Amino acid sequence: MYGRFKDHVDAELRRIRDRGLYKRERVLETPQGVEIRTESGAKVLNFCANNYLGFSNDPRVMAAANTAFFRWGFGLASVRFICGTQRVHKELESRLAEFLGADDAILYSSAFDANGGVFEPLLDETCAIVSDELNHASIIDGVRLAKAKRYVYRNNDMDDLEDQLVHAREARFKLIVTDGVFSMDGTIAQVDKICDLADRHEALVCVDDSHATGFIGPTGRGTHEHCGCVGRVDLIVTTFGKALGGASGGCVAGRREIVELLRQRSRPYLFSNSLAPAIAGATVEVLRILGGSAELREKLMANTRLFREGMERAGFRIVPGIHPIVPVLFGHLPDDARLSQDFANALLEEGVYVIGFSYPVVPVGKSRIRVQISAAHATEQIEFALDKFRKVGKALGAI
Ligand SMILES: *Cc1c(COP(=O)(O)O)cnc(C)c1O
Repeated sequence: MYGRFKDHVDAELRRIRDRGLYKRERVLETPQGVEIRTESGAKVLNFCANNYLGFSNDPRVMAAANTAFFRWGFGLASVRFICGTQRVHKELESRLAEFLGADDAILYSSAFDANGGVFEPLLDETCAIVSDELNHASIIDGVRLAKAKRYVYRNNDMDDLEDQLVHAREARFKLIVTDGVFSMDGTIAQVDKICDLADRHEALVCVDDSHATGFIGPTGRGTHEHCGCVGRVDLIVTTFGKALGGASGGCVAGRREIVELLRQRSRPYLFSNSLAPAIAGATVEVLRILGGSAELREKLMANTRLFREGMERAGFRIVPGIHPIVPVLFGHLPDDARLSQDFANALLEEGVYVIGFSYPVVPVGKSRIRVQISAAHATEQIEFALDKFRKVGKALGAI
């Protein structure tokens, strides 16, 4: 049997390669950080990780992981409700709830799992989910698992959201779900306006703040804080795999009864192993650091401003905003898909690691390099990257 299936898989792989969609993985020989080295040798400055606050190799966070590792052991070999809940898990849940401004929080192995488990237990076929068209793949999959009717609105378009809410008016319960920050553009969802519409149309609101928790908003609580609507968002999904340390894990924070029901019914929570205690302990430490000091968030924002202003001054087109995701656009230039790839390759030669994205990852004519700034970048490293962008930009005729 395998022979025939092998031919099928080979053909599928060929199609992926022919369409230019084959993803090659560069193997790192170093911890994740600002300076990394890949198999091919040279050290490069990393501008493509979600390591927004530099916690992925912060000595305080690693020490906390180490302490939790020896205090609580390597793993639980159990789901939460059998014998997989330790004090460190409960402590993390209560700290997350406090940080996010929610009643309670429930842990998952990843934000992907959180989205896979949050909709199905809450919304049945009499309900409706109204979802932004650019929402993360895990939201799309999670919504598919629910029996609720699905309505999709144009990205960040509040008029279309309202239209969809009107279409969904017969539903017993409605839930609006959005990414807090859209990862290809770095744009921030209008969570305040979404909450207003939710009030007007009697809907619940769920925000996936994976690209915001820890650094967006005056004290880093996320997009709800940035938009001035803490307490109005019913459910917040977020990851520990980005700014909060980058290991893995995620949660849903929200109203007490909803979290309680998720503990009873959410399948990835009930039927998947407990978060490793070292990660739980390290994430508690991350939240403690963030609660005590604004230093890293301020450094991240200062780095982001420096980079954004430098790029605009040099004549690059970037998606405006404040987020450390900085998309550098090439769509107005000839052969933009190739240019974005050539540009990224040339930057790597110069010691700056960024990724070029083109169709179909982003729409036709929207090819880009996505730069991600970290608080761990030194000012000189931001200047170095700007210098290399200018050099390559001139060489390739992009500025
Ligand atoms: C990264 C991301 C996820 C996935 O997070 P994991 O914890 O790595 O599974 C989910 N949602 C959004 C919006 C993300 O950006």
